[in-house]
Amino acid sequence: MAETEKHHKRTFTGFAHHDLKKEKAKWSKETLAIWEKYGCEESVDKESFQKSFVRHVNTTLARSSLNVDNFSAYQATAHTVRDRLIERWNATQQAHTLKDPKRVYYFSLEFLLGRSLDNALLNLGLKEQFGEGVKELGFRMEDVLEQEVDAALGNGGLGRLAACYMDSLATLDYPAWGYGLRYTYGIFQQRLKDGFQMELPDYWLNFDNPWELPRLDIAIEVRFGGYVSKYTDENGRTRHRWEGGDGVQAVAYDVPIPGYGTKNCINIRLWSSKPKRQFDLSRFNAGEYEQAVNEQMKAENITAVLYPNDNHMVGKELRLKQQFFWVYASLADIIRRFKKTDRAWDQFPEKVAIQLNDTHPTLAIVELQRILVDQEGLDWDDAWDIVTRTFAFTNHTVLPEAMEKWHVPMVEYLLPRHMQIIFDINLFFLQKVEKQFPNDRDILAKLSIIEEATPQSVRMAHLAIVGSHRVNGVAALHSNLIKTTIFKDFVKFYGPKKFENKTNGITPRRWLHQANPKLSNLITEALGDKKWLKDLSLLKNLEPHAKSKDYRRRWKAVKHSNKVRLAEYIKAKTGIDANPNSLFDVQVKRIHEYKRQFMNILGVIHRYHYLKSLTPEERRDIVPRVVIFGGKAAPGYHIAKLVIKLINSVSATVNADESIEDLLKVVFIPDYNVSLAEIIIPASDISQHISTAGTEASGTSNMKFVLNGGLILGTVDGANIEINEEIGDDNIFLFGHLADRVDDLRHAHRYRNVPMDPDLQSVITSIETGNFGDSRIFAPLINTLTFGKDYYLLSDDFGSYLDAQKLVDEAYKDEDEWCKKSILCTARMGFFSSDRAIREYADQIWDLKPVPAKA
Ligand SMILES: *Cc1c(COP(=O)(O)O)cnc(C)c1O
Repeated sequence: MAETEKHHKRTFTGFAHHDLKKEKAKWSKETLAIWEKYGCEESVDKESFQKSFVRHVNTTLARSSLNVDNFSAYQATAHTVRDRLIERWNATQQAHTLKDPKRVYYFSLEFLLGRSLDNALLNLGLKEQFGEGVKELGFRMEDVLEQEVDAALGNGGLGRLAACYMDSLATLDYPAWGYGLRYTYGIFQQRLKDGFQMELPDYWLNFDNPWELPRLDIAIEVRFGGYVSKYTDENGRTRHRWEGGDGVQAVAYDVPIPGYGTKNCINIRLWSSKPKRQFDLSRFNAGEYEQAVNEQMKAENITAVLYPNDNHMVGKELRLKQQFFWVYASLADIIRRFKKTDRAWDQFPEKVAIQLNDTHPTLAIVELQRILVDQEGLDWDDAWDIVTRTFAFTNHTVLPEAMEKWHVPMVEYLLPRHMQIIFDINLFFLQKVEKQFPNDRDILAKLSIIEEATPQSVRMAHLAIVGSHRVNGVAALHSNLIKTTIFKDFVKFYGPKKFENKTNGITPRRWLHQANPKLSNLITEALGDKKWLKDLSLLKNLEPHAKSKDYRRRWKAVKHSNKVRLAEYIKAKTGIDANPNSLFDVQVKRIHEYKRQFMNILGVIHRYHYLKSLTPEERRDIVPRVVIFGGKAAPGYHIAKLVIKLINSVSATVNADESIEDLLKVVFIPDYNVSLAEIIIPASDISQHISTAGTEASGTSNMKFVLNGGLILGTVDGANIEINEEIGDDNIFLFGHLADRVDDLRHAHRYRNVPMDPDLQSVITSIETGNFGDSRIFAPLINTLTFGKDYYLLSDDFGSYLDAQKLVDEAYKDEDEWCKKSILCTARMGFFSSDRAIREYADQIWDLKPVPAKA
């Protein structure tokens, strides 16, 4: 036991930096010389690549040169790149340890990274020579890259945002770490069976994962349950101690994130749950071997699976355990690092900024307060000052069903001390509220962290606001909305300055340079160099080229070849012929009622009927269209799953109708993920971002499409509004009611008889008549418009949606004008780089300075 404890202690603490230096000082000259001699950098030329590749085939993979398929070639290439990545990672982390700057820690339950090899090759500047090298060894780099499975540890926009932000933090040389969970199963794989979504487990770790560095020595014990004991300390103060409970281990896996055009390489530390090392020997001696082993196995459950709900809260105990497991281990790790230097606790916020990506990590606020008060013996107020100066909180939604609430009895049972602390935080907070608003019981109830229902619940957003020094929304409209709706009473109490906007951004490295290499080259040619990849505002210098006929011709050719590539993919996966000369109309994103894929497919049915009503003469004037859908529905979200079924039923009917020829094709591409987005987005002519106004906090795929020269058909919502401001009214198709009308319109549906839009009615009748298969299946979906009071206002926006679609058809007829718009779109997207967003966070929230990497 003593031995285990000693071992545990050493691995937990690690060597402090000055200890390492002391150890090294003891080495002989000879020893040091050996380290010097072999400590040289891994070369990055073609020959070194090939040498390293063959060595990895022979040793790491234990294969001979006669036995190397594309997958082995991928593994050997990945390991060769990994070696170079680790070197930069080491150098960066060492430099940060020496310099000890303020660091930011980005806490996100999701990191939707996608593939890493191509990204690493491009960011490290190795693509050309390694591509040549692999070709000479008998492989095509494209085939090699295709072998990689996505790291899909996220649902959609929120997880992908975290990934884009990591790319920017690394590229801009910020000392930053991400903290998350290493799920054994990422977001499920989507298959279609008879047009219905089927979910398959995403066992992405089936083969070895070269993009993680297991840190089995960094293991932190995390506890659940137990009880609180009260005692009086040597100074006569009443203190609390969290005791007992069951423990599991959090083991660290590090994912290196290389910056573009810098040697800086940051880290995402993902925790994996393992049984703790110390077994309960008495149970084994008592003959309870099987039960004891079973309980050990339960530990692995905690990080087994990513919850597949996007913008929807499900109050499962295991999810709460995931959240606590993650923030407990992450904070222990951060504090261990802070304690390497002898600093007073009040300097903690000068060394540590923690950004909460949504409310998922809100328990970190409570846990830090517990550490400071219970373990470190700080006074409550001093501790609370440190806590609130450390944390900042990003809100991602105003949808009521997405707001995190946890039942008090569940929190109490899993985390008894934390529940007490939450009640205390609330008490002291409400006392201040009462002082400011005496005799206003109403505002106390509205602001309380505790919702008074049966049972009581903890409102995580309230806790996050109270425990942070800054709260931000993710687009201008959204940030204004939270100030005037869900958090308006907090604005009354704190004043408006605590609440600000940080409009989301995307990384141009992945979403243009990597996903659309031909367009990237064409841009670089026009601008003279690749500086735009680090300063996206330079894209504005593309504008004059929109006037060049030759440049437009080449721009069009790139779009066309991207459409050919997507058409080939569609043919291979679905058997559907998508003619690349058609207008490609795309809506890819999570399937959710608020995103209104239902309205899109109803519009498609309207178009289908319209086409069937035309004479051959009239048809000649029609622009052929391919309408492309993609996206996953949460497994328990029945209405969203019916939308997928309807899309596939319409697809089957329309595509089989020979009278329609190539004028309309409908495609649902299964298993939308980051890698698929990289193929789809560069091929889009127009993409749809048609959420009910006020419901989409920002959207980020809207930015990806426009950056790639795709136009937008959208509502006046989220970042669409700011995109419009940047690119101009001529280059975007906006429609629909504005956010400030939504409440009234909903009220009308609820309390009055709103007649249905006649075009919408005829489309619904068509479904009910059975034109798209057994209509009974779709009854619950159609009921959302009738008995459901049309909560997302499809009938209110349908008319203006069809009008906007007409304008799209008309505009596309003038190919050359369309191409000008396309170029201007790309040219004016500089603002939406995640580099801009990250600089704003660093300057205005984190007070964080770059630590330039050595060249
Ligand atoms: C960007 C992205 C999203 C977010 O799309 P929105 O349209 O903004 O909801 C979702 N999934 C993937 C794979 C993405 O790349």
